[in-house]
Amino acid sequence: AAAFEAFADGNAKSKAIYDRATESLPGGNTRTVLFYEPFPISIASARGSKMTSVDGKEYVDFLGEYTAGLYGHSEPVILEAITQALSRGLSFGSHNADEAELAALVRERFPSIDLLRFTNSGTEANLMAIALAKIFTKKSKVLVFSGGYHGGVFLFKEGYSSPLNAPHEYLIAKYNDVESVEELVSKAENANDLAAIVVEPMIGSSGAIPGDHAFLAGLRQVASKHGAVLIFDEVMTSRLYRGRGVQGELPDEAQPDLTTLGKWIGGGMSFGCFGGKREIMELFDPRNPGALAHAGTFNNNVLTMAAGRAGLEKIFTPDRAGELHEKGEQLRKRLQAVSEGSLLKVTGCGSLMNLHFTTTPVDAIKRPQDVVGGNTMLGDLLHLFLLEKGYYVARRGFIALSLAISDQDIHGFVDAVKSFIHHHQS
Ligand code: PLP
Repeated sequence: AAAFEAFADGNAKSKAIYDRATESLPGGNTRTVLFYEPFPISIASARGSKMTSVDGKEYVDFLGEYTAGLYGHSEPVILEAITQALSRGLSFGSHNADEAELAALVRERFPSIDLLRFTNSGTEANLMAIALAKIFTKKSKVLVFSGGYHGGVFLFKEGYSSPLNAPHEYLIAKYNDVESVEELVSKAENANDLAAIVVEPMIGSSGAIPGDHAFLAGLRQVASKHGAVLIFDEVMTSRLYRGRGVQGELPDEAQPDLTTLGKWIGGGMSFGCFGGKREIMELFDPRNPGALAHAGTFNNNVLTMAAGRAGLEKIFTPDRAGELHEKGEQLRKRLQAVSEGSLLKVTGCGSLMNLHFTTTPVDAIKRPQDVVGGNTMLGDLLHLFLLEKGYYVARRGFIALSLAISDQDIHGFVDAVKSFIHHHQS
C-alpha cells in the first residue's frame, strides 16, 4: 500500500490520464497486457533506449515493445523511411514497390519461406496460416502447446486452454515433450485428422522458455509422418541468433512448412506475415481459378512496407543481430549471477528473457507450468521497484533488448535487480 501511494504521488499526470481513460475504455485499458496496479504510467515521448513519461520521468526501455521495438525509439533510418513514405501519400489501394522488396528481404532471411503474404498483426498471420493448413491438408485438428501464445483472439483465462482461441479443434500437448505429442496424435480419432502443429520455437509470452532443438526436430518428424503442416510461430523469435530465427539454427530436415512472423520486421509499425512452402502458399495465387482470397485493407500499407524494408536492408544485418544476441546472453548470465541463491530465475535466449520468482532451478524450467505457482507478489514488487528506479519492463518480467540499449543501461539494470534481491532476499 505504501509503495502504491508513493507511486501515485510521483505520477499524478499519468493518473489523470488513466482516470480519463476509464470513462471510455474498460478499466481504462485497450491492450490488457499494458495494465498494472495501481495504474499504468503514460509515456509522452521516446528516443533511443529512453522513454519520458507525461510526469517528466525518464525510463530505460527494457521491454522493447514486447519485441516489436527492436530498433530502439525514433531510430533515424526508420524515421527517414517513414517520413519519405508519408511525403508520397498514404493508402493507395494498389501494389507498391516497397512490398515487393520487403517480401524479397524476408524470403532471403528465412530460406524455408518460398512465398509469403503480409498481414496487419502476428495474430492475423497465425489465423491465416492455420486456416491455410486446414484447407491444404483437408484435415481439421490443430496441435498446440499448453501455455503457448499465438495471438490475442479471446485467450481463455482458466488454466491454459487454447493458445489462440479461434474455433478450431485443438489438441493441447506439453511443451518440450515430444512424447506427449506422439501420444495425442496417435490416438485413433486424431491419427488421420491432424492438419497442423503450431509451435513457438521459444515460448515467448508465457515466460521466454526455449524449445530444445531435439524437440523441434521431433515435431518435424511427427508432422511429416501424419501429413500435417508444421508451423513455426517466430513472431517473437525471428530476431534471435543471426536474425534468422530459431529455424536458422536447425538443420534442413527440421525446417517448418510454414512460418509466421510479426513485431520488429515491420520496423515498429503494425505488421504480420506468414509464408512457407510454394505448394501451400500458391493456393493464394490470384491468377489461378478458385484461388483462396486473402483480404486486409492495410496488409501492404506503405508505412510498414517502407519501415520494414529500411530496417532489414540498412540496420539489422546478420552481424548486428549476432551482436544483439550475444549482448542478451551476457545480460542473462549477469542477472543469473546476481540472483544466485534467491528465488529469482532468468530464462530466455539471446536478447529475449524473462525474470521468474520460483523455486524451480533454471535448467528445470521446460514449460510454463514449471513456473506457475511462483511468487507473483515478488514479481509485482520487482516491477514497481524497477519502475521507480527508472527501468521499464513488462509486469510479468519479460525483457526484450533493443539495439539502442547501451552497456551503461545494462550495468544500471543489473545493479537495480541486485539491490532488489538484497532488500527482499528472505
Ligand atoms: N505469436 C507470438 C509468438 C507472439 O508473441 C505474439 C504477440 O505477442 C503474437 C503471435 C501476436 O502478434 P500481434 O500482437 O502482432 O497480433
